[in-house]
Amino acid sequence: MSHRVLIIGSGPAAHTAAIYAARAELSPVLFEGFMAGGIAAGGQLTTTTDVENFPGFPEGIMGPELTDRFRAQSERFGTTIHTETINEIDFSSRPFCFKADSQEGSADSVIIATGATAKRLDIPGANDGELWQKGISACAVCDGALPAFRDQPLAVIGGGDSAVEEASFLTKYGSTVYIVHRRDELRASKIMQQRALENPKIEMLWSHTVTQAKGADFLEAIRVKDLKTDQERDIPVAGLFFAIGHTPNTAFLNGQIDTDDQGYIVTKPDSTQTNIPGVFAAGDVQDKKWRQAITAAGTGCMADLEAEHFLADNQ
Ligand code: FAD
Ligand code: NDP
Repeated sequence: MSHRVLIIGSGPAAHTAAIYAARAELSPVLFEGFMAGGIAAGGQLTTTTDVENFPGFPEGIMGPELTDRFRAQSERFGTTIHTETINEIDFSSRPFCFKADSQEGSADSVIIATGATAKRLDIPGANDGELWQKGISACAVCDGALPAFRDQPLAVIGGGDSAVEEASFLTKYGSTVYIVHRRDELRASKIMQQRALENPKIEMLWSHTVTQAKGADFLEAIRVKDLKTDQERDIPVAGLFFAIGHTPNTAFLNGQIDTDDQGYIVTKPDSTQTNIPGVFAAGDVQDKKWRQAITAAGTGCMADLEAEHFLADNQ
């Protein structure tokens, strides 16, 4: 079956693109994925609780409910949604041919909004069904303001820009913020390092790893190991934030779309246009810096408007 606009993904970027495309009467088809990248249809917001920074919800909204609303709005205007993953797509000629779990088709334009998956550590106590989302998170900007973290000691794992940025952010809420880093030098840029190291609320745990998360119903402490002495000790913390990088969901593109060295899609400046005319990228799959629902939605809007212009110019 041939489509005007194929949207791959199911987070705020994909659904915003779908709402715009559907209202422009392009009859978009959206493949929301089936546990693609290890994430349920609906995207990263399905893995969180309260979303308090998405405009329009002054009382906050639960992540899964917000994604359900995105989906309902896409459908309301006529988006066709398939709960399947796109496994292959051929960008060598237009229309672009694709293969999903149980069907094949083609499309005149494609919006890639497959997001990224935050890396997590397999630490005892920190997994799903244990203390994950009960004091343990992979997004300080999203969860840091929760009341449970106010004036409490917190910890961030990682040594890159995300770790120091998130630790600096968390000092607004926590009493002390430990950065637990496996080496004795940070990977973060010099200016970000300097800000973190000069912050009196940040305490570095150099050459340390976290070996266990402890707590009954909510995180109470982490067990850390000094890699130089092999000694372990408990540190009381109410929050633990993984900042060890993300994996963009671009493997299925098989190298046809230009990415940076970490796999994020490279788009033209001030645009969602990729290296292939008619193929656009929106959301976290092309954004390793801001990574917020609202920024993903914003680029989703851009991607559809650019796709509309492309289709108008390339009948
Ligand atoms: P994603 O949400 O990453 O969704 C992409 C979807 O595409 C996934 O469902 C994936 O399975 C699917 N997919 C992948 N590959 C394929 C394929 N080949 N075929 C079909 N489907 C595919 N942001 C905020 O603004 N506020 C918050 O409070 C907040 N809290 C967060 C809490 C957590 C725990 C996390 C991890 C993130 C949080 N974020 C928050 C960040 C926000 O969730 C992301 O920035 C946003 O979801 C990115 O949207 P996206 O549209 O790029 O795609
Ligand atoms: P990075 O890949 O740069 O850093 C990941 C960090 O996590 C590294 O310090 C790494 O340690 C550590 N790490 C990775 N795996 C493990 C593990 N299994 N156990 C313990 N520690 C681990 O990711 P970031 O998300 O920090 O940054 C991604 C990109 O985004 C970068 O290009 C960064 O510059 C950019 N960015 C820019 C920002 C800004 O300019 N404001 C803000 C945020 C990100 P090690 O160093 O030992 O490898």
